[in-house]
Amino acid sequence: MNGEAAVLDAGDPLAPVAEEFHHPLDAAGRRAVYLCGHSLGLQPKAAATYLAEELADWRDLGVRGHHVGRRPWIGYHERLAGPLARLAGAAPTEVVAMNSLTVNLHLLLVSFFRPQGDRRRILIERSAFPSDRYAIVSQLEFHGLDATRDLIEVAPRPGERCLRTEDLIEAIEREGPRLALVLLPGVQYLTGQRLDVAPLAAACRANGAAFGLDLAHAIGNTPLSLHDWNVDFAVWCSYKYLNGGPGAIGGGFVHARHARDSDRPRFAGWWGHDKASRFAMGPQFRPIPGAEGWQLSNPPVLASAPLLASLEIFERAGFDRLRAKSLAQSAYLRDSIERCAPGRVEFLTPAEPQAHGAQLSLRVPGGRATFDRLGEAGVIADWREPDVLRLAPAPAYNSFADLDRAAIALAGSLPK
Ligand SMILES: *Cc1c(COP(=O)(O)O)cnc(C)c1O
Repeated sequence: MNGEAAVLDAGDPLAPVAEEFHHPLDAAGRRAVYLCGHSLGLQPKAAATYLAEELADWRDLGVRGHHVGRRPWIGYHERLAGPLARLAGAAPTEVVAMNSLTVNLHLLLVSFFRPQGDRRRILIERSAFPSDRYAIVSQLEFHGLDATRDLIEVAPRPGERCLRTEDLIEAIEREGPRLALVLLPGVQYLTGQRLDVAPLAAACRANGAAFGLDLAHAIGNTPLSLHDWNVDFAVWCSYKYLNGGPGAIGGGFVHARHARDSDRPRFAGWWGHDKASRFAMGPQFRPIPGAEGWQLSNPPVLASAPLLASLEIFERAGFDRLRAKSLAQSAYLRDSIERCAPGRVEFLTPAEPQAHGAQLSLRVPGGRATFDRLGEAGVIADWREPDVLRLAPAPAYNSFADLDRAAIALAGSLPK
C-alpha cells in the first residue's frame, strides 16, 4: 500500500464515519472495496436499531403507534424534511419524503407539464435514464401528444461524451414558445457529469418552460441550491448516495413560489390534505401549502427508518466536509488509475471539480471480463455495456486506501 493514502487517511477527520456503516466482505473475508454508492449506498449500523424500534412500537402499541410511539408514525416523514432540505438547498416546506423516484416524477409532471396549443414539447437529454424517458413519453401520450414530434433530445456533440451548457441553452431558446417543460439530471448517471443548473433554470424561465431536475445521482453527492437556482420541481430516490436502503422512500421538491398554486392540477391523496382537518374526513381536498401537499398516502415508516439513520450521519459529518473529501477522493482515484495503468483507460467524467460528483466513469478495454476480474479482486463497482466502468467513492465510508486497492486491482484486471 502506498504511503500517501495512509497519510491522507490519518489526516481525514471523517475517517471514523466509515465505522458507522456495515461493509460487505470480499471472497477472502476482508472488507471489499465498495465503490457502488451511486447504485446502493451501504447500510448505516443505526438502520437496524431504528427499524427494530418501529417494529417494537408496532408490536407493543398497535395502532396507538401513530400517535404515541417514540417517533409517532403520523408525522414520520416530517423528521426527514429538515435534513433533506439542507442537502437540497431548500426550505423544509419545499421538500417532502414520499413514494419512489419515478412515482414522484409522474406526480410532479401531472402538475408541471401543462401542454397548451403549440407550447407542448418536452426537452430531455439523449442518454436520459430509461425510467425517466419512459415516464416522459408516457406523459406526452397521456396528453394525446406524439413523442416523435414533441420530445426533444439533446445529445453531446459528435466525438464528445458530455453535454455542454451552451448547447442545452441553445436548444431551449430554439424551441422557445413550443417548449412546455425541461427535465434534466443533476448528475448524469452514465458519465457522472454534474450539470451547471443555474443558467439552465434561468433559460427555462426566460423561455416560459417549466424546469424539473432528476437528482437520483446528485442528492447527498453534490451541492444543491434548488431554491436559489429557481428550479420548479425536483425528484430523487434515497438508496444511492443517501444510503436509505433498497426501495427506500424517495423525495420531491416544489419551489416555494408554487406552494399555493391552487389552479395547478394535481393527483391528490389524503396525506396531502391540510393536517388540521385531515381526520375530519371531509369530501373537499384542501392541499397543505408546499411540497407536502403532493403526498398521497401515509408514510411508509419501515422504508423510512433507515433513511433517518443515514441522514443523521450526514448531519453530524456536515455536507461541506463530505463534499471536500469527495473532491479529494475523486482526484486521488483518477491520479492513481493514471499512475497504475497509464493511458489504458479513457475518463468520461469531466475533471473540473464543479463538473462532477463522486462518480468516476471510465471506458476500459477487455469488456466485461475486465469487470469480472475486478470483482474477483475484491472491488465492488458497476458495469454498463459495452465498456463503461463506474467507480463511486463515497466520502462517508470509503478510505483513500480503498482507492489505492481499486487502482491496483483495475490495472491488474486489464487485458495484457
Ligand atoms: C436510480 C435512478 C432512477 C430510479 O428510479 P426508481 O423509481 O427509484 O426505481 C430513476 N432515474 C434516475 C436518473 C436514476 O438514476
